[in-house]
Amino acid sequence: MLQQVEEMNTDVAEQYRITQEPFYRVTGAEEALYQAAYARRMPVMLKGPTGCGKSRFVEYMAWKLQRPLITVACNEDMTASDLVGRFLLDKDGTKWQDGPLTTAARIGAICYLDEVVEARQDTTVVIHPLTDHRRALPLDKKGELIEAHPDFQLVISYNPGYQSLMKDLKQSTKQRFGALDFDYPEADMEAEIVARETGVDADVAQKLVQVAHRTRNLKGHGLDEGISTRLLVYAGQMIAEGVDPQAACLMTMVTPLTDDPDMRQTLQAAVETFFVN
Ligand code: ADP
Repeated sequence: MLQQVEEMNTDVAEQYRITQEPFYRVTGAEEALYQAAYARRMPVMLKGPTGCGKSRFVEYMAWKLQRPLITVACNEDMTASDLVGRFLLDKDGTKWQDGPLTTAARIGAICYLDEVVEARQDTTVVIHPLTDHRRALPLDKKGELIEAHPDFQLVISYNPGYQSLMKDLKQSTKQRFGALDFDYPEADMEAEIVARETGVDADVAQKLVQVAHRTRNLKGHGLDEGISTRLLVYAGQMIAEGVDPQAACLMTMVTPLTDDPDMRQTLQAAVETFFVN
């Protein structure tokens, strides 16, 4: 029976394994620090603005450490059952179905809860017993206590820019994690990433990064966030598809960011400074 369960867990783990090395450009000490944290199975929090490489970093580390990765995009409608699991009705009666957190704890995966502040606080507390010496997950509805697999690790991401009093992690949650600060990579590195991810040449990549730098200074002055590395990659992809650079930038770096006509004009002017028609 135990052997059967182990075999089943190995099969599930294979589904979540990352087989190809994800491209991740290490920007500082994050790889070494994460590796040391993982060695002690310390829960890790990745802090930083949207689209700056947090998810890519976790994928890369999961590949490097040869661990399966289970990612959950958190949202405000998410309940504890969405993480832990629930009984489902089928023709034979009721059947328990593990949620992603439970699966990760059973198979020894890295469980990545993306944008965890989006989840309600009563949802967030289910991770508490997994993040201290207990390393356990109570399935209250099922009456089962799962001891986390020795390789299991919890990682969360958190965008400090969005926090409000209503939506912030409690200290009792925050203080269960070691944290790494992430930000957009410095200019040359970011251009290298954009070129590598999209196939545009170095000159175009550098111009895209320069536009982004201008907008990042507008954060808090009419923009909630500057243009992320993700959006630069989108712009590069459109240009590599043969789209005119100004139109590509408008679609990926101006229109998604704001609806304010003045701000759009400001952003467009920044684009036109670097990409002349
Ligand atoms: P988030 O911080 O929101 O999780 P992602 O990890 O999804 O952001 O990053 C968005 C995109 O930016 C990635 O898909 C990748 O193309 C690019 N990117 C950002 N930083 C890096 C990096 N250091 N190395 C490689 N790609 C990166």
